[in-house]
Amino acid sequence: MKPADYPEDIRPYIVPKPEGNLNYRCLDCGENYGIEKLLYTCPKCGQVLLIYDQAFDRLKKIPAATWHRIFDYRKMLTLPALKGIYRYHEFIGPVIPLDAVIYLGEGHTPVVEANGFLQEKAGIRFYFKNDGQNPSASFKDRGMASALSYIHYLIRQGQISDVLAICASTGDTSAAAALYASYLNPRVKSAVLLPHGKVTPQQLSQPLGSGAAVFEIPGVFDDCMKVVENLSEQYNVALLNSKNAWRILGQESYSYEISQDFEYDLRDKVVVVPVGNAGNITAVMNGFLKFYEAGIIESLPKIIGVQSRHANPVYRYYRQADAERRKFVPVTVTPSVAQAAMIGNPVSMPRVIHLVEVYNRLAGKQRIWVVEVTEQAIMDWELIANKNGHIACTHGGESLAGLVAARQLGLVGDGEIGVIDSTAHTLKFSGFQQMYFEDQFPPDFDITPDPDLTNAPVLVRPKDLAKVPTPGNPLTGEDFKRFVQRISDEIAKILDLEKT
Ligand SMILES: *Cc1c(COP(=O)(O)O)cnc(C)c1O
Ligand SMILES: [Zn+2]
Repeated sequence: MKPADYPEDIRPYIVPKPEGNLNYRCLDCGENYGIEKLLYTCPKCGQVLLIYDQAFDRLKKIPAATWHRIFDYRKMLTLPALKGIYRYHEFIGPVIPLDAVIYLGEGHTPVVEANGFLQEKAGIRFYFKNDGQNPSASFKDRGMASALSYIHYLIRQGQISDVLAICASTGDTSAAAALYASYLNPRVKSAVLLPHGKVTPQQLSQPLGSGAAVFEIPGVFDDCMKVVENLSEQYNVALLNSKNAWRILGQESYSYEISQDFEYDLRDKVVVVPVGNAGNITAVMNGFLKFYEAGIIESLPKIIGVQSRHANPVYRYYRQADAERRKFVPVTVTPSVAQAAMIGNPVSMPRVIHLVEVYNRLAGKQRIWVVEVTEQAIMDWELIANKNGHIACTHGGESLAGLVAARQLGLVGDGEIGVIDSTAHTLKFSGFQQMYFEDQFPPDFDITPDPDLTNAPVLVRPKDLAKVPTPGNPLTGEDFKRFVQRISDEIAKILDLEKT
């Protein structure tokens, strides 16, 4: 549909013009910095930054009902720049002109309600939001669409040229970064650093296919991150980790979509997200806060952060109930099937501490909790979910296990509805499913397969069948007839089928 076909009163709002006054703000000393340059930490005190719009108040002047219609009408546009995360342009990157927006099909991922069987098993009504259905098969695309649109904008302004975009990754950040950077080939090149042996073959294939320079580094993600930080301090590179506040802006789209998906009624919603480097939960909190402050939603949903026992620094921090006595201590991670969240020293921890405080204060009561789950629970819940129509990855399983834990702890009550972040596509982590099915987990994972959840292919090769087809050598005539009948009989026997 074309904007000209829309009702007259909504028409002026449909295609946004660049506006707003974005600044990087230091969460420690409060200093503001202009966005003409890429900046990752406060030049004064070294703390991480968030991007704030000094002209945000203009958005509060538009009534909630008008906002709802703006977003709903934008849904019908065929304009690529507004089909993805920039449907919420005013809240994500109001200064970015639409012709600088990079759209590769990200965002607006399906929200799929769990069937009755699964809801009963979990003890709560819930939906999965399938962020594995993004272009590189994880939610990281949301942040990259924002970060690369901004870089594209700077290139067009002549502020930067010949960009080398770089990131450390547990697998999905590098896949997303390499994909979005490759769309700007040859003006942007990318390089990614991965912990050697700690990403799945599927994840490794992604930046390779996108043409990035791929470096495997000994150690875990936290070690890669230190090298990348060092490179970004000493060399002229564009850092694409969630330390880059533009990533956070893009990932806020997740909260805006949930708001729109549920008709802006979030009173009884419980949003569940896995926590690794804590960029995702930062963005989810900030997104809801911005919609709340603009009056677009009337209540702040509950948020449950979930961590594996094998990588739980954020859980440990909030385990201390007395806020005065909380002290952040990085942990040494041990192997986890939620491999993309296997992070002991999350870069966004200062942002989390700040935003949790703001969120709970504005809500007037505690609305955010962090729970921990076992590796066993992560795998079991992933497999149970996928046996009931879902495509959850291990982190989706972690989130579901976290919702169940939160329900059991009484953090989530009767009548509340879970919205679970399935952060990546199950296929990226199919190796863990295979390890479960074949009982191949090394002891440090602490995972014992439940026979009810395992599965394996059955080779049908009756011994009495002399001839079978092979590639290039089909059977014909009686041989082929016999083959089809014998194989059919064998399958019917295994499945205990009744004759018609
Ligand atoms: C990155 C990632 C996470 C963790 O998100 P953070 O922003 O690092 O907390 C969880 N699941 C998947 C699939 C990821 O790629
Ligand atoms: Zn500072």
